[in-house]
Amino acid sequence: MSILVVNAGSSSVKFAMFRLDDLMPTLTALLDWHGNSHQASLTLSRSDEGIRTFQIDAADYRAAVATSLKTIRQAMHDANKAEPEFRVVGHRLIHGGEELRRPVRIDSRMKETIAGFAELAPLHIPPGLEAIAASETALPGVPQVGVFDTAFFGEFPPEVFLYPLPYEWYRKWGIRRFGYHGISHQYCSQRAAEMLDGDSDETRIVICHLGQGASLTAVRGGVAVNNTMGFTPLEGLMMGTRSGTVDPGILLHVQREHRISVDELDDILHKQSGLLGLSGVSSDFRKVEAAAASGNSRAQHALLVYAHRVREQIGAYAVTLGGLDALVFTGGIGENSTRLRRDVCRGLECLGANLDNKRNEETRADGDIATADSCARILVIHTRENLLIARQARELVADID
Ligand code: ADP
Repeated sequence: MSILVVNAGSSSVKFAMFRLDDLMPTLTALLDWHGNSHQASLTLSRSDEGIRTFQIDAADYRAAVATSLKTIRQAMHDANKAEPEFRVVGHRLIHGGEELRRPVRIDSRMKETIAGFAELAPLHIPPGLEAIAASETALPGVPQVGVFDTAFFGEFPPEVFLYPLPYEWYRKWGIRRFGYHGISHQYCSQRAAEMLDGDSDETRIVICHLGQGASLTAVRGGVAVNNTMGFTPLEGLMMGTRSGTVDPGILLHVQREHRISVDELDDILHKQSGLLGLSGVSSDFRKVEAAAASGNSRAQHALLVYAHRVREQIGAYAVTLGGLDALVFTGGIGENSTRLRRDVCRGLECLGANLDNKRNEETRADGDIATADSCARILVIHTRENLLIARQARELVADID
């Protein structure tokens, strides 16, 4: 028996399969349109076989996902000489609004509820619903479960989720802070708890998820108490191409004085800011690091701003938590950039977090890079969002049985 995890985006769909009993990964697959609306490729990777690529007729998103699922089934059948059996399909869904704070079993009423969140996440919820419909067709009778990126943040108190804007905006339009990247943060919070001696209900952890998108979460005793992303994933840290938080007065100023339209501003804040906008080199952290190392001063500034914003937010969250037991680095940048971790940890000694420079250079995830006498541990954790989705989907169907 297997669990299938489906992560549907606007231009690609990722699949991951796990064994039901021990959650061992058995297969991953990527359906990618490569910007071409009619043809996509499906790349299958199996631990025991290597990589195979298939061309998929992709004019219709739902049909392309269904074809991919059939191809995955066939590949498993060929490998095991038996029809693969699926216990549950877990779908990653980026938004569960205010209502959905736990994984849910998806039925037709639930699909209507989820469709209501399309306004909040227009690039992710419609593909997610298409992928659910495709899975229902390709795997009839297999329970479908939705796991939400916002759910880990369902316990935010009013002082965290309310903006200092007219209260009617919240009441009438639902404008509030939600938080994002919750599946990664929840996985890392659980993994950090396993790695820490004496984890308790009061353990205070700050998790830095630093990838193409970036956010920090403050966690006390396994419960998230704040996240740097807000109503949208644009708030908070500087990212690859996203600005993160800036003075809202700037947005008014450039519209009034420089005639930048709302659509242009949308594009600039999402796609032309962050590392790319400041450095002028790339949104890719490695390339910005390489440019900085060869003397490019804009790239050097971009890295300084990036680290400064992470460090500043760690300080704020340590205050929220009343101290710090562990700092976690995850995501492509957090897991791999020794320079970034060094820059961020500079000055954190005042919070009891002391980086061991040698361990920082040598440790691979999952590991501890703090000095032996550091009061707070500094952990590097390889995030495994699919595993958390598989775990939660398995728990939900076990509860239903
Ligand atoms: P996504 O948010 O798309 O999942 P990732 O978590 O894979 O992205 O992170 C991508 C980022 O990680 C890129 O900016 C990339 O340059 C950076 N990265 C990956 N490996 C390294 C490395 N060895 N050193 C520095 N940055 C790295």
